[in-house]
Amino acid sequence: MTRLVGAAHTDVGQVRSNNQDAALADPGGGLFAVADGMGGHRGGEVASALTLDTLAAQIRRVRVGPGPLESVDVLVDAVLGANEAVFAEARNNAELFNMGTTLCAVALVGAPGTEHLAVVNVGDSRVYLLRDGELSQLTEDHSLVQSLVRDGQITAAEAAVHPQRNILTRVIGVEPDVEVDWWEWPATTGDRYLLCSDGLFNEVTDAKIAATLRQLADPAEAARALVGMANDGGGRDNITCVVVDVAGDDDGASGNGGGGGGAAAALPDPGPTAAASLASALVDAPPPAEPRPRRLTGRVIGFTLLLLLVFGAAVFAIRTWARHNYFIGTSNGAVTIFRGRPDGILWFDPELVDVTDVSLARLTPAQQEQVKEGYTTSSHADALDWVSQLTTTTTAPKSVTTTTDPSARTTSSTAAGTATSAPTSSIAPPVTPSASGGQPGAGPPPSTPAISAVTAPVLAPAAATTTVPAAPSG
Ligand code: MN
Repeated sequence: MTRLVGAAHTDVGQVRSNNQDAALADPGGGLFAVADGMGGHRGGEVASALTLDTLAAQIRRVRVGPGPLESVDVLVDAVLGANEAVFAEARNNAELFNMGTTLCAVALVGAPGTEHLAVVNVGDSRVYLLRDGELSQLTEDHSLVQSLVRDGQITAAEAAVHPQRNILTRVIGVEPDVEVDWWEWPATTGDRYLLCSDGLFNEVTDAKIAATLRQLADPAEAARALVGMANDGGGRDNITCVVVDVAGDDDGASGNGGGGGGAAAALPDPGPTAAASLASALVDAPPPAEPRPRRLTGRVIGFTLLLLLVFGAAVFAIRTWARHNYFIGTSNGAVTIFRGRPDGILWFDPELVDVTDVSLARLTPAQQEQVKEGYTTSSHADALDWVSQLTTTTTAPKSVTTTTDPSARTTSSTAAGTATSAPTSSIAPPVTPSASGGQPGAGPPPSTPAISAVTAPVLAPAAATTTVPAAPSG
């Protein structure tokens, strides 16, 4: 039966004060992974550790036996589970706000005897394959510079030294859902996989990585040597390497390798025959299968984008509609013009446009009734005109600008200072002056000026006719 053997090594590096990388090397569970955390002082460590813990726990829960996982979906689901766990933890803990992590992992999947090797990836940690002595990068970085390379804007060589090469376009834990890249192909005895964080490949060339992987048969030794090379190269970031070999039945009973530092699991002693079988397996290894990057949720995301587009257009239309409505109300006892809908719509609350110096209390009961019933129009000018028609029929001495021309516009300046001169309107006066109304003495002091500060854009209840706070004029 094909199985995976391997080991991990991780190191804080030469510059950083803590190690936010995490590694998993669990031959018994058939799972190997690297996570490179980020975010805040503590967030990165929590994100990477929580991700690997969740991943391993979920795989353990669904695993039916010692053999391969049922399918790559099991692995992808576990990654999605890890994403949810980190996202939830970040929301529940202010200190961990916006934490995230990369994640790459390998496991055997499929029916025993026809196992496949599955690779999953989110972020810019990498999985390499060493086959027939040739090193190839399997995963594609989810980074800004990789997008630029793909678009032909910069070369791979420029990307390798780009100052913004640490900006990621996809990570675990910062969104409620995440798109997972995955690959699957026949598990070939003798293949060697390297999972690593960017702390390795930013310090060590692919050629040197390949040479080391070819030279050191023991995965634990190879992992340790690679980390050492990155430290020698500067060690400016945390460094993590997991080296995994695909081994067959004839490789002996024990796996090879030993536990490295960090989160690496303890492994059995190196098997004496591992190196030899690896070498012989390389001879008749079939040509490398092309990794098949597939977007698990591509269609779902496309559909979601479409929905968002439709939703956005609807919101825009409603907002436009709401914004092109004006209505009359009161604020602090003054007749006021609002823009929007009287009860608001969606989250578009009415917006105060003009606070007139027309006090509701000094209007006739019939006029007050008119105001309370509200007047709605799509034109600001109409709204102003409506108010001015009110004032020309009141007897309040100083509620409006004095004029001898009853058709003159009398609406006051606005709270926002946008004094508006309404054009001549053809709207008929909407009020029917009542013979019994309009006693100035029943209202507030006639000198009450425009109200300056208003926060409650609601139609005035009956109580609003009682008093108007005396605000300073201006
Ligand atoms: Mn890193």
